[in-house]
Amino acid sequence: MGLFKEVRKPVIKVAPAGVGEISPLRPLFVAKSAPCSSGCPNGNQIRDLLVMIAQAKDYGLTTEQAFEKAWNRIVERNPLPAITGRVCPHPCEDACNRNAKDGAVAFHEIERRLGDFGIARKLKLPRITSDARPQKIAVVGAGPAGLSCAYQLARRGYGVTIFESLSLPGGLLRYGIPEFRLQRDVLEAEIGRILRLGIELRCNCRIGRDISLEQLRGDYNAVFVGTGAWKPMPLHVPGESASNVMGAVDFLRRVNANENIELGRKVVVVGAGLTAIDVAYIAQGRSAHVTMVAAEITADKAEMTALQEKGVRVEAPAVPVAIIAKDGRAKAVRSAYLSGTGAEPIEFDLDADFVIVATNREPDLHGFERVSDGHSWFRIDNFGRAGAGLFAGGDNTGLSTVTGAIAQGRLAAETMDREFQGLEPEKPIPVPVMTPDKMKLDWYQAAPRRLPTNGTGHLSDPIHATEWNEEALVNEAKRCMSCGMCMDCETCWMYCSNNCFVRLPKGQHSSIKIELCNGCKKCAEACPSGYIELF
Ligand SMILES: Cc1cc2nc3c(=O)[nH]c(=O)nc-3n(C[C@H](O)[C@H](O)[C@H](O)COP(=O)(O)OP(=O)(O)OC[C@H]3O[C@@H](n4cnc5c(N)ncnc54)[C@H](O)[C@@H]3O)c2cc1C
Ligand code: SF4
Ligand code: SF4
Ligand code: SF4
Repeated sequence: MGLFKEVRKPVIKVAPAGVGEISPLRPLFVAKSAPCSSGCPNGNQIRDLLVMIAQAKDYGLTTEQAFEKAWNRIVERNPLPAITGRVCPHPCEDACNRNAKDGAVAFHEIERRLGDFGIARKLKLPRITSDARPQKIAVVGAGPAGLSCAYQLARRGYGVTIFESLSLPGGLLRYGIPEFRLQRDVLEAEIGRILRLGIELRCNCRIGRDISLEQLRGDYNAVFVGTGAWKPMPLHVPGESASNVMGAVDFLRRVNANENIELGRKVVVVGAGLTAIDVAYIAQGRSAHVTMVAAEITADKAEMTALQEKGVRVEAPAVPVAIIAKDGRAKAVRSAYLSGTGAEPIEFDLDADFVIVATNREPDLHGFERVSDGHSWFRIDNFGRAGAGLFAGGDNTGLSTVTGAIAQGRLAAETMDREFQGLEPEKPIPVPVMTPDKMKLDWYQAAPRRLPTNGTGHLSDPIHATEWNEEALVNEAKRCMSCGMCMDCETCWMYCSNNCFVRLPKGQHSSIKIELCNGCKKCAEACPSGYIELF
């Protein structure tokens, strides 16, 4: 399968320069943003690395060399590609222009495979400089936000110490996301690689208890706070303090730490989002009868169907109105259906040996009261700043995803780096996003997506069972249409009868001899990727 359709070179009739002016319009190369990158919370440069893999031979690279280059490209922004390639809900694929043709490019799968490639080859994370900078930074929390921030600072030569309250790094990657979705060897490999950049990790050290934030601010040039949001928000119903009612993160932390939890036979899970799905799946796997009760199902439909097929019962839209408890232990969850019509709600009781609350969670601000400004979340500006020398990011600024946390950690590190150099943070320059209606979708060879779903990759998506060989992976990369960027297809060169386009060595695209142009517009009309504009 090729990236391009075979195009016959038309008979070229050369018009003399300046002769036969058709219109005053002239072509200009204008790079656009690819929607996949705009859809990725971390702005991963998906198009560049897919084209690099797809056109490896043209660049004089073996597939292996192209994979290595692509890995190096992706880790510039995301040091955890094998992790995000497993757990990210991949909004990049929802945004992919190829959805308008024959299904999104399966970048999530490619990212996972590139991440695994990096682990298998023991590739080292690239440093930006080998010079050591004088500033020292404290990072609070070793979740994806803190790790990403520490990585971006360490590769720029800063001294970084991470303070983590638990005994091992990873945050919710280790203590929240279950192992069946994120294998521990992958976690250890990607975290270990970041730490080996020379980052000091101090575990079992809780800021606000063992060391005060003020002390950190005095001892370090800057502090990044990536403490997550682990505190369950109360349901505000009677009986919720019963001993067998537990927050989802607490439950998962104990499961992931191999602690023994007596669930009994009947478990009620409150909520129907991604966290609730993990919790329900684990409880069901421990031979409990699980019922989910939720005002709204926010998880992907396919995930819910997969759970229901495993025997989980779902009551929605409904809310718990009371936990019926005896001797301090919950016996049932009284719930009410939401009719939405204003009619009297119909109540029902769900027997429960154990109740897991997987609705909302919020940050624990103990020790951070003075900087959290009385709010329940950290407030940051567009550059990750929470105050003078103080930065924050990840779930403690609003519930997000692993990729969202990585992005915020990176942003804070980039701002710090510029501030240490006496510079203002860089304001992003808005670049228009290429939409499918501005492309020539028919030009691309038909190659339907072979993965069955764009699902969230929790339970229903067989993506992680896919074992593509190298050739299949390259073929998937070839489905990328290079939206908004030249891919050297030479269509403009072939269609221009005035020979305006000058082919340059691979990778430099073409140049335009504008003095030969007579405004025929054929190049812009023929360019499949939408890279040529007329002015
Ligand atoms: C069950 C569950 C499943 C999820 N599944 C997915 C998924 O599939 N895909 C996805 O993209 N996202 C998922 N998420 C969300 C994702 O895990 C979070 O958005 C992400 O981990 C947030 O990263 P963070 O670094 O901000 O915080 P966290 O990962 O929560 O890490 C915070 C770290 O800070 C430490 N810490 C806290 N307070 C202190 C202190 N005072 N001093 C020192 N250290 C401290 C904590 O111990 C922790 O290690 C899931 C969340 C849950 C709960
Ligand atoms: S991190 Fe997520 S959204 Fe970004 S490229 Fe990877 S799968 Fe797509
Ligand atoms: S076709 Fe390629 S460049 Fe275009 S949105 Fe999809 S992955 Fe991105
Ligand atoms: S037609 Fe092809 S070679 Fe010409 S600008 Fe568009 S993508 Fe690049």
